[in-house]
Amino acid sequence: MQSDSDSTMCAKNSDILLAENSLMDTEISISDEGSHAGEKEQYLNASLSKLQMFPSTSTFLYYPRDDDSNCFDANKKLVEAFLKIGKGHAALELFSMAIGIHAMDKKTFSKCLHKLYEEKCSFKEDILEISRKVVRKHHEDLFSTSNGVIDITVSYDGTWQKRGHSSLYGIGIVIDILTGLIIDYEILSKYCPECTTAKRDLGENSAEYSIWYKSHQEECSENYVGSSNAMEVKAAEILWKRSIKNCGMRYVSILSDGDAKTYQHLSSLNVYGNCIKIAKEECINHVAKRLGTGLRNKILEWRNKGITIGGRKEGNLKENTIVKLTNFYRKAIKDNAPDRALAKNENPMSHSLMKTKLSEQVLEKILPVYQRLVNDELLERCSAGKTQNANESIHSVIWKNCPKETFVSKKRLEMGVISAIGGYNFGCFNSLAIERTMS
Ligand SMILES: [Zn+2]
Repeated sequence: MQSDSDSTMCAKNSDILLAENSLMDTEISISDEGSHAGEKEQYLNASLSKLQMFPSTSTFLYYPRDDDSNCFDANKKLVEAFLKIGKGHAALELFSMAIGIHAMDKKTFSKCLHKLYEEKCSFKEDILEISRKVVRKHHEDLFSTSNGVIDITVSYDGTWQKRGHSSLYGIGIVIDILTGLIIDYEILSKYCPECTTAKRDLGENSAEYSIWYKSHQEECSENYVGSSNAMEVKAAEILWKRSIKNCGMRYVSILSDGDAKTYQHLSSLNVYGNCIKIAKEECINHVAKRLGTGLRNKILEWRNKGITIGGRKEGNLKENTIVKLTNFYRKAIKDNAPDRALAKNENPMSHSLMKTKLSEQVLEKILPVYQRLVNDELLERCSAGKTQNANESIHSVIWKNCPKETFVSKKRLEMGVISAIGGYNFGCFNSLAIERTMS
């Protein structure tokens, strides 16, 4: 009896299905030919769930294919959306399954990725070109010069995909201080997936490999050999060397973090000849950080000698006192930055405003840290009162596009960098355009 009622249900259901989707017809008729009802039911359930998972393709909107490529505009948009949120093919597959559509195969995905990459590369040229023009215009207006190579102050910093010495990618970014626009960048990569596979399959020293490499060389992702730490310095060298040719600019002053390696390397290269020396400015946030580090080191130093100047005791150097002193030091630099000569002749303001108590014993011990940090040469380099916040901010946007925990190819990383720069610069650029229209 049970099996009979099942088969009637099957027949009814199959009618509905027939009306709904002719594709299912074949499956049901095959199942009707099957021997017993249990199997039929199983098959039908599977078919039904299939039907729910993959809706009829006739409901899809028609999206035109791009003329010069084989990928649909809709597919490209979908891939772009996933890249924007820092996800790849695996996530797209899961997403398709959850909302019940056919998942895009890997081949199509990489085809779309390649197409998007080509588009992004021409977009890159456009955004950098426009940004450089804006920077040039602002400098020419400010310094009343025109049509020559301009000298500008830039903020330069490197960022890595991974901390430590193991990162495969490093990026160096140059930001003009006056306008806050990114004018150039360089990505260094220690890895090429194609080369790794070819080395494994053909043998690194084989003749086949060298023949293959000759044809591959042009599109090879690997453009750096050496330690990941030195990537920042190497990228700076490339960027500084092409600054006149690509941008018509000399980066004569560099705002950098405490790390002096890049600056020393650039100075030793004499990129702009013997007559033009590159100057160094300090990021005041990084300088202020040095006070905190100095104070913490003092606590450790005296602890080793058996004297406690840290801890919670009144008048001692508590952690929140260190934070307060650091902020106060940064504020002092920033407030007096425009004219330090004037500040030098003035009487310093009373410190009673700071409601932080420190005992005489502690003050005496931390004095050397302050003496070191009020060094004229150091404060001179802070006179612009600038920070590297712009660099930090673009870094975070880049790594949001390409999350650090996911492995990405150089192509994908570059796309992430270009969209980050586009968003970053066009925000600034729009406001500049409005400013120009208003004036
Ligand atoms: Zn390669």
